[in-house]
Amino acid sequence: MTAIPFVPPITEPGYGEPVQLSPLVRRVIAENPTKYSYVGTGTYILGDDNVAVIDPGPALDSHRDALLAALHGRTVRAILVTHCHSDHSPLAGWLREETGAPTVGFGPHGSGQHTHPVLPDDPEDDPPDPDEPATTGEAIDTDFTPDVVALDGDRVDLVPGLTITAVHTPGHTANHLCFALAEEQALFSGDHVMGWSTTVVSPPDGDMAAYIDSLRKVAGRIDAVLYPTHGNPVTDPAPFLDAYLQHRLEREAAVLEQVRAGNAHVADIVAVLYADVRPELHRAAGRSVLSHLAKLAGEGRIAVDGGGLPGPKTAFVPA
Ligand SMILES: [Zn+2]
Repeated sequence: MTAIPFVPPITEPGYGEPVQLSPLVRRVIAENPTKYSYVGTGTYILGDDNVAVIDPGPALDSHRDALLAALHGRTVRAILVTHCHSDHSPLAGWLREETGAPTVGFGPHGSGQHTHPVLPDDPEDDPPDPDEPATTGEAIDTDFTPDVVALDGDRVDLVPGLTITAVHTPGHTANHLCFALAEEQALFSGDHVMGWSTTVVSPPDGDMAAYIDSLRKVAGRIDAVLYPTHGNPVTDPAPFLDAYLQHRLEREAAVLEQVRAGNAHVADIVAVLYADVRPELHRAAGRSVLSHLAKLAGEGRIAVDGGGLPGPKTAFVPA
């Protein structure tokens, strides 16, 4: 597998303390570390006197207090939301009440692009993991509906002095947006591209075909820096994105090879391909494998044994 040149780790998250990363960008990290959120959610504050806040973050009192302190003396003009996972959007409603600024996003959870549908999970056979943002209703923020809808390419003209454009990047979720800041040639990549790990793509809302298309879309842009929600800035995006994309394509080829070798189920494939990965990550790995299988089945490269939609317990056969 192609190694991804992950950026240096965040060794001192400095929870609650705003850190100036560039002339127009500050970051405050929330204290919500999990195996999926790394050291926690990075909330970005863009601008100087008039600011935009990207992903206010999880409903934690400590983070709410930290944002109030970091925003003191500034005017919040826009609250930008990349997607509706519980580590990203829940404080958006509170910040809107506090500041009167509108929220901006693609739409509520579930809006956006799904390329290849899959069967829903049966929670009885597959108990939810409370840390995992992408598979269960519990960790999805279904309360969020943006005041201002931003679709792909829309300018967000709400903050004097900042030129912000929405970039629709479905795949991690169907409604995922990245936000470009022209003044610094920067892209705030949410969970689409992370600095420390690959992204969980978990059906039914996660969709690997859409995800790979969205990676190609970001790779085709010219950004000087990516600011992920989880992890440090990616300051050399081209080789990073190239490796990120290659890694997915290699994984897809390996999944296809497993089906051709007679490993018919998600669990069989995870056992082979993730043998050297910590077992607590196998569930997330299974979600990504299912998303690859759904893509391959949607493209007619493999088939669901007996027909029907792909699902977590489905047997897959070579096409
Ligand atoms: Zn997410």
